[in-house]
This record gives sequence, structure tokens and C-alpha cells, in this order.
Amino acid sequence: MDIVERFINYARIDTTSDPYSTTRPSTMKQFDLAKVLVEELKELGIKDAAVDEKCFVYGHLEANTETKAPTVGFIAHMDTAPEYSGTGVNPRVIENYDGEDIDLGSTVTRTADFPGMKALKGKTLIVTDGNTLLGGDDKAGIAAIMDTLQYYQDHPEEKHGRIAVAFTPDEEIGTGIHGFDIARFDAKFAYTLDGGQVWMYCDETFNAVSAVVEIQGFSIHPGAAKDKMINASNVGMEFHGLFPAHMRPEHTEGREGYIHLTKFEGSTDHAVMEYIIRDHDAKKLDEKTELMQRAEKFINGLYGEGTCTLTLTQQYRNMKEIVDQYPEVSRFAMESIRELGYEPGIEAARGGTDGAQLCFRGLPCPNLGTGDRNAHGRYEFVVVEEMRQASELVRKVIAKVLAEG
Ligand SMILES: [Zn+2]
Repeated sequence: MDIVERFINYARIDTTSDPYSTTRPSTMKQFDLAKVLVEELKELGIKDAAVDEKCFVYGHLEANTETKAPTVGFIAHMDTAPEYSGTGVNPRVIENYDGEDIDLGSTVTRTADFPGMKALKGKTLIVTDGNTLLGGDDKAGIAAIMDTLQYYQDHPEEKHGRIAVAFTPDEEIGTGIHGFDIARFDAKFAYTLDGGQVWMYCDETFNAVSAVVEIQGFSIHPGAAKDKMINASNVGMEFHGLFPAHMRPEHTEGREGYIHLTKFEGSTDHAVMEYIIRDHDAKKLDEKTELMQRAEKFINGLYGEGTCTLTLTQQYRNMKEIVDQYPEVSRFAMESIRELGYEPGIEAARGGTDGAQLCFRGLPCPNLGTGDRNAHGRYEFVVVEEMRQASELVRKVIAKVLAEG
């Protein structure tokens, strides 16, 4: 099956995840795609292909050579982002794209809004009908991995070592990867295929801490409040005011970290604030959490011990710390991207990735691009030539792993 047909089949299957769900997976419809993928893996000669009760698909292609090489893994996620509808996705292929605005039917993708588009003149794009997202994030990744397996089936003369494959649920809501079975996956290192331009390589994420701030006020009738009332909402605003505005996400980019107030609920008696704190640099992250601790102390100095309680929770760490311990993992990726004719772009993700969590559980796992663009909305599209190259990239990495043994 051609990679385009494969991709369109996957895109049509609704796999939206749900952040408010308490089940794992968050939505049972993710099994619809999982089952299709297991069948396809079996057809492609993956004898142990199976989906587990948490909706993780695992499989291994055994080596077809005596040459010893470590098992290399490839991972893509099956769910699509809950912020936009993934129901009734109706992909359309545009051949020989003219580099102009794209009329999707119900809306128009404007090159003025997405500056990279002009450069794609002449390429083949897969777009939406304007009513849903496309789901190229991350079904382009799934299609690229499957296409590689198809290639090996069609070209038995092409030698490769043992390859581990996994398709995972609930990446978009950040809960899926906890259920990933690293022992069953059984790879020495792996790559997620979950990204934009095929030349982008990502081995870096934020360090992440979350904070909950509870403010206990002293509620009293406002008519008799003089010198007695402590209004928790006001104290909360004072607390927040202690952080410079330039540290907010709306004023940061690139490698700048931030302190982000995500929730504020308050009455006179009680207020709760939730924050996320992010920085690529672990030292700078510590400085930000120390700033919050100083703010807690300051508020308690003003209003009395116990007024402000700060609880910090570590969420994830920058995966570069781990990936750098395995320089060959990055080298295989960079050399392969260069062989495709690109200068690799290094991306410091302004977020976390499933790979970051896997890194700290012992599986080095940076990210490769897939050719997807404008993810999580109706302007999303896939550049077919790049999706094909993503498949080629996977095979180049596999060849390098085998060559180095
Ligand atoms: Zn994704």
C-alpha cells in the first residue's frame, strides 16, 4: 500500500483523546485505529504484533542478517489533539500545489498566516475540508513507520537489524506514556516520529515543575473589617505581582523559560493559584522556583505564617541530559537528515515530549520530523514528499545502526 493511501485511511479514523476522561485510554475509539494497525503489522510480517489493554500497540521486526546490531525503536502516537474536532476527517490531496492560499471549502488557509507555505510550491499536500483537524500529528508518523516495514517486505535483500515499533495512546493529553512498557518494547534506544519539517531534530525539552499556591485569608464582615480582614484574593494578586511580567509565556520564546499562572480561584477566605514553571536550563528553572519560595516567605512575613503555602511538584526534565550520554543516537539522526539533502534544524521543544519521559525511564528517545504542518487545527496539512522522506529517514537510521553494530 502506498504511504498516502495508508495515511488517509488512518486520518479518517477518529482517535481524539479526552483530557477530562478518567479511563485509560482516555477514549475507547483509539482502539479502532490500534486494531487496524495490529492487522497491518501482521500483514507486514510482524508476528508478535498486538495491542494491550491500555491501547499500546507493540511489535518487532526480526533481523534478517547475522550481523549483530542493537534493537532500534520507532514510536508514534495514535490520538489527535482534543482542542479541535477529529470526527469525520475528510482528507484531500492537492497535487502540484501552486504556492497560493488554499480554499478548503469552509475556510481558506492563507499563506499570509503561515509564511512557510510559499516555499512548498510544486509539492503534494494533504489538507482538510476545513471542518476538522487532519491528524497528521501524528498519523504521518505512523504512516512513515509502516511504510518502512512495507519497504522491507518488498525488498527482502535490504539488510536490517531487529526493529521495535510502538504506537501509543493519549500523547496529546500527556497521560499515555506512563503506561508504556519499556521492557516489552525492548529497544536499546528509540526515536519518536512526531513533528513538523522532516529536517528538524529535537533532543531537547523543557525542565518542568508545577506549583499550587494556597492562600488562607481572614474573612470578616466588610463593615467591621478595618485592620482585621485578610482578603485571600487580594493576597493572591499580591503574590502573583511579585513575578516580573517578562517571565510570562506571552513574553518569551526560544530558550527563554517562564512562570505561567494557569488557574486562579479566590474568595475573601481562600484562594488557590496553579502555576507551571518551565526552562530548558535546569539552573534557571531552580532560580524560578526559588523566586516562588521567596514570594511565599515574603507574603507570610506580611500576613503571618500559614497565610501562603507553596507546593512544588517536579513534572519532567530536559531529555538532552540523557540523550547526550548516547552521542551516536543524535549522530545517526543528523547524518541521515543530511543524506536526505537538508541541513538539520535543531529544535528545543517548548514543552515536553513522550520521548522525554522515556529518556528518564532508561530509553533514550529524541524526536524526528514527519512533514506535518499547522498541527491541532483545521489548517493542518501534510507535505507528502516530506512524509515519504520521513520513511526514508527511518530506514537510513536503521542502516546506520546495522553498519556500526
Ligand atoms: Zn504529536
